[in-house]
Amino acid sequence: MKKRLQKLLNLKVKIIEIHPTCKINTNLGDKKDYLKDKTLQDVIRIGKYLILEFDDLWILNHLKMTGSWQIQNHAGQTTEKQQSKLKYWRVRFDFGEKLAFYSDVRQFGILWLYEQDPRIVDNSPLKNIGIDVRDPMLEERLKKQIKEKKWQRKILADILLDQSFVAGIGNIYRSEILFEARISPFKRIKELSSAEIQQLIEAIRNVMRKAFKIEANEYPFEDGYAPKEIEEEMFAVYGKSESLCKHCQRARIERIKWKQRSVFYCPNCQK
Ligand SMILES: [Zn+2]
Repeated sequence: MKKRLQKLLNLKVKIIEIHPTCKINTNLGDKKDYLKDKTLQDVIRIGKYLILEFDDLWILNHLKMTGSWQIQNHAGQTTEKQQSKLKYWRVRFDFGEKLAFYSDVRQFGILWLYEQDPRIVDNSPLKNIGIDVRDPMLEERLKKQIKEKKWQRKILADILLDQSFVAGIGNIYRSEILFEARISPFKRIKELSSAEIQQLIEAIRNVMRKAFKIEANEYPFEDGYAPKEIEEEMFAVYGKSESLCKHCQRARIERIKWKQRSVFYCPNCQK
């Protein structure tokens, strides 16, 4: 998504339309006028958040399950896939030669508008954001952080989704990471051996690297679900309850509802 938006760098917003049912969180009043004539200076990704920096204004966006950005040339044709997404447009930017749509089928995504970089705004969701999964110092930083007292009693299923611990892991990849690390989702941090900590960090890196690679090619999730062929290739446990475990070939994958979300794991491999 970030790469896609970078095609708009240094372009100026000519027209901005906001869908009547779309809410942009801001205390700037009528936000529409504020963005007109502003130039997109930078696109930054932090965990699951995107920051669009315009001169002296910042849009912060959390895509949640189905949010996406579609870019097209003004005179260009839209693909069928884009067409289906344009139906659900929430915000439409006209950058002159290019158009950008923020679309969101289920409308769980959130947009904020700030007069300051959201990384330094007091009550912004980024204020307590944890280590980004793609931080080059991930291993070092996580190893240090994991020893902190406040995390010791937490269980892995919770901690991997806690964006103040590590930023960028969603529900699907939580299950995939723990399967790859061969650790039970219900183990506490303090129960992890140093070998398990190493396995966990490596699994975070590997699984998320694959995830971002797929996303960079073409965001494949329609309506929040990956197409079948991607799911087959990508997911070893997610959505596979009752299937035979790919690793041990003995146990069946179990699904547990945990705090309203599903966790999938192999009870034989993940102890
Ligand atoms: Zn297994």
